[in-house]
Amino acid sequence: MRFLILSDVHANNDALQGVLRHVKRKRYDRVAFLGDAVGYGASPNAVLDWLHGLGPSAAIVRGNHDRVCAGLDSGDYFNRYAREASDWTNDRLEQRRLEFLRSLPEGPLEITSDAAICHGSSFDEDAYIFSVYDAQQAFESLSHQVIFFGHTHVPTVFTLEAVHGQQTISARLLSGRRTVIDLEPGTRYLINPGSVGQPRDRDPRAAYAIYDESARRVYLYRVSYRVADARRRILQAGLPPVLGDRLLHGA
Ligand code: ZN
Repeated sequence: MRFLILSDVHANNDALQGVLRHVKRKRYDRVAFLGDAVGYGASPNAVLDWLHGLGPSAAIVRGNHDRVCAGLDSGDYFNRYAREASDWTNDRLEQRRLEFLRSLPEGPLEITSDAAICHGSSFDEDAYIFSVYDAQQAFESLSHQVIFFGHTHVPTVFTLEAVHGQQTISARLLSGRRTVIDLEPGTRYLINPGSVGQPRDRDPRAAYAIYDESARRVYLYRVSYRVADARRRILQAGLPPVLGDRLLHGA
């Protein structure tokens, strides 16, 4: 089984289409989506149509922005721009898409006997995994060898392995057009594929991953797309201009 792993699209349909074009010649059987389909970007209906159209074969968990845009959460803790964007999104979502958004489950969700997906962390959908300590808590709360997570918008892998008899966690930021991770027996992995629609690692290209279960391998990719189009849509929609500008810098 090969999974296309996508996270944090954030209503950026230009980036999503760029990824789908890029992945066309790579075979995959199922999509696993790590949350935050909407919020920030100007194309929430298009992105939700695509996600809904995947049908029951897709493994999907919701993100915090999905919850707020769906009206399930007040978003009091959001900054001004995120708040403006979630109000804007909520106003524009058609009823059936709003219902679909509300129906998305909280993670974590098992996708194979070895792998699970979540939005923030495996014990809390809103928690961020930035540090080794955050990673340790995530590893402790779930036993799967591989846990895919999103929320930080930064492609990262944390590995947990025995070094000189001691369980040791190490972190690696993943940059570059293509990265391959071989999944070694006895080692555990927390992998963030990065964000499709709002990267924050100073690389504006869309990010995604392929998880090949039988080859025990994860591929991470970065794809150029027409960032200027996504930005223009944000400006034309009357969303905060900063949400368009940040896409140019991947920040
Ligand atoms: Zn997000």
